[in-house]
Amino acid sequence: MRNKYELKTEDQIRKMRVAGLLTQKALEAVRANIKPGVTTLELDRIAEQTIRAGGGRPNFQLVPGYYHTICASVNSEVVHGIPSNRVLSAGDLVSIDCGAEVDGWNGDSAFSMVVPGRDDAQTRERQRQSDVCEGSLWAGIAALARAKRLNEVGVEIEKYILDRGNYGILEQYVGHGIGRSMHEDPAVFNYRVRDQGPKVEPGLCVAIEPMITAGNQRTEVLADDWTVATKDGSDGAHWEHSVAVHSRGIWVLTAQDGGFEGLKPFGVTPVPLD
Ligand code: MG
Ligand code: MG
Repeated sequence: MRNKYELKTEDQIRKMRVAGLLTQKALEAVRANIKPGVTTLELDRIAEQTIRAGGGRPNFQLVPGYYHTICASVNSEVVHGIPSNRVLSAGDLVSIDCGAEVDGWNGDSAFSMVVPGRDDAQTRERQRQSDVCEGSLWAGIAALARAKRLNEVGVEIEKYILDRGNYGILEQYVGHGIGRSMHEDPAVFNYRVRDQGPKVEPGLCVAIEPMITAGNQRTEVLADDWTVATKDGSDGAHWEHSVAVHSRGIWVLTAQDGGFEGLKPFGVTPVPLD
């Protein structure tokens, strides 16, 4: 099958790295402000200010019908939560997804964390769920570094998660190609599929984003038409990075260090573009 998406040149990947690092900067600014009493709308403003000050624009606002810079999904919400006057409490499990566009190129990244200030069995379980989701993201990125075919990524993500607990892996929502648009082909699955997927070759740029629940994988879209929440009320977690394959290796575009620390446990060393 012919590629329906664009393979990026190294110059284009360098531009995507600018967008990726601005995305990460916005997420770091949000992370530093996650504490009891903050609203998700305040976090949204912090992300927007960071992106605009950095010369970019929030690419979530380019999605028809969406007017915010981040998605903020709390506890049983997994993805696509709309920022609001909801106040975060100690021990909440919050997932923040964000993207910046700079000079026509896009970044997309997400993290989960437990709002500090509470330590009990539930918050430890939530932290563990976030850690497993994050680890599965790095397992998937490491798989991409070695893969001949893209769908090897999902095999490793699924294995990493199911080896560590009885978590549900969302199947209705998957990762994607990224470039001039935030969402491009090809799909990046977080689980094993029959098809091998496209060839992994220089210029392939993808957003890998495992989404897991503490229960089963069934979700519903809430009345706001955006928020994806678990049907069984269990907690959701979501981690994401945008990653480029180039002629000498891979580079995580939305990590300051290109993924060096995250990939270390998997024996993979990212290779800078210059
Ligand atoms: Mg995202
Ligand atoms: Mg994405």
